[in-house]
Amino acid sequence: MRESIARRWEEHYTAVSEENPLEGVKALLAYNSVVDKVRAIDGQLLKLLRKPEVVPPIYAKTAEDLDDLSEGLCYSISNGLALEVICSPDVIRFLDEAGGYEERLGGQVATVARLLSDFSAASVFVHPDRFSWKLASLYQGSRAEVPLGIGGKVEYVKAEEFYWDCSPEAHYILEYPAGLSFGDGPAPRANRFIAAPMTKVLFHKEWEESLSKVSKECDAFFIAGLNHMGEEYEESFRKVREHIRTAKASNPSLIIHLEITSVPDLRKREAILDDILPLVDSVGVNEAELADMAFLLGLPRWEQVRGNAVYQLEAMHLIRALGVRRVNMHTLGYYLALSPNPVEEVRKSLLFAAIVGAVRASLGRSPRPEDLSEARDVPLAERGLKEMERLSELLKLKDVDHRTFLREGWCEEESMVAVPTRVVDNPKYTVGLGDTISGASLFSEKWGKGPSPR
Ligand code: AMP
Repeated sequence: MRESIARRWEEHYTAVSEENPLEGVKALLAYNSVVDKVRAIDGQLLKLLRKPEVVPPIYAKTAEDLDDLSEGLCYSISNGLALEVICSPDVIRFLDEAGGYEERLGGQVATVARLLSDFSAASVFVHPDRFSWKLASLYQGSRAEVPLGIGGKVEYVKAEEFYWDCSPEAHYILEYPAGLSFGDGPAPRANRFIAAPMTKVLFHKEWEESLSKVSKECDAFFIAGLNHMGEEYEESFRKVREHIRTAKASNPSLIIHLEITSVPDLRKREAILDDILPLVDSVGVNEAELADMAFLLGLPRWEQVRGNAVYQLEAMHLIRALGVRRVNMHTLGYYLALSPNPVEEVRKSLLFAAIVGAVRASLGRSPRPEDLSEARDVPLAERGLKEMERLSELLKLKDVDHRTFLREGWCEEESMVAVPTRVVDNPKYTVGLGDTISGASLFSEKWGKGPSPR
C-alpha cells in the first residue's frame, strides 16, 4: 500500500518540476538581513570549549560566557534542534577569533529576497536593516531594491548599492552533521546552532515613508525578524503593527505573512500571539516554533506537537482560531498547510517548496531554476508518508475521505493539505532552509480572492 502511494507522490512531483511559479511575483520583505558567518563544527572548535558532563535540561537564552555557549551547543547537538542564542560581546569575540567562516547573505528577508530574485520575481522590495557595505555587497546580482519615501515620492535604490551609517551585524552559524557528538549521544539529525549578537533590527525612516505607496504594488508583505527586536521590544512591535495597518489600508488585498522564528523570551512570544498574529493573514512555522506557540494557546504537549502530525494539526487550528487564514508548517519529512485557497493550488506550492528545499539542502546555497532537477534523485521521506497515515486515521474517525488524502494530499472539508518531502541524507548547510521553504510556498500559492481587510 505504502509503495503505491509513494509512486503516486513521485507522479505529483514530476508534474510540477518544470514550472516556475515565482515568476512575476511582487514582494515586500521586512525586516532582517544579516551577514551570516557559517562554518561546520569540528573537533578543533569543540576542543576550545568545556564539554558539559550531562546534557542540560535547559540552556541559557542569553550566553554570557563560554560555559553558557557550551551548554547551548550541547543541548542543540544532542537534541538535533536548531537553536539561536543571543551572545555577549565576549562570546561573539571568541567565535570570531575561532575563524574558518564562509560569509554569506543571511536573515529571513535576505534569504527570501535571494530566492525570489533568482526565480524572476517582478519586484523584490526589502527593508534595509543595518545595511553595512559588507551586507549590501552580499546582495550583489539580486533584484532586491530598497524603496525610500522622499518628498512624497518613492525612490528605488538597488540593495547592493544601499548603505547607511549603522553598526553592522553578523550571525555565527555553526552547522553540525547527524552523528556528531558533544556531551551525549550522537546528533539525531543535521542542524545548526546560531550565535546572534545583542544588536537589534533598526527601522529605517525613509523605508517607512515608502510603505503606503509600495504596498499598492505588491502581492504579499513577508514579515520576519521579530525575535531580533531587543529586550525592550514593545515600541518595535508597535511599529510593526503600524506598518501592517498602513500597508493593509493602502492595499486591502495585500497578504500579510508572518514568519515565526524561535523566540525564547516568553513575554515576547505572548506579545506576538496577542498583538501581531491577529493582524496577519498567513503564518509560516517549523514544528518547534509551532509547539512553542501552541503551548501558550493551551496545548501544553510540547514533545507531541514537535513530533506528531495529529498534534501539529491541532496546534495549527489554534493559530487559525486567532483569525489567521493560512498556516503553513514545515518539518523534516513533510509539510502541512491549512489554507483558504483551492487545495490543488496549495499542493502545487508545497511540492514546489519541497523541491526548492531539497535542492538548497543538497547544494548548500539558494537554488536557481536550472538547479531544480537535482531534487529528482532525492528520496521521499518515509517519515512523511507515515505521518500522513496518522492524519488519515484521524480523518477516518471524522468520517471524511481519508483515502483521497493519502494519495492526493488534500482534504477539502478540512482545508488541509500535506505533502511528503524529499530529504537529503547529508545536507551541506541547513541555515536558511526553513525561510526558503516558507518563502517559496507563500509566494507560489495562488490566492483565490485577496484577503479581506482587517
Ligand atoms: P528551519 O529549522 O525552520 O530552518 O527549517 C528547516 C526545514 O528544512 C525543516 O523543517 C525541513 O522541512 C527542511 N529540511 C531540513 N533538513 C533537510 C534535509 N536534509 N533535506 C531536505 N529538507 C530538509
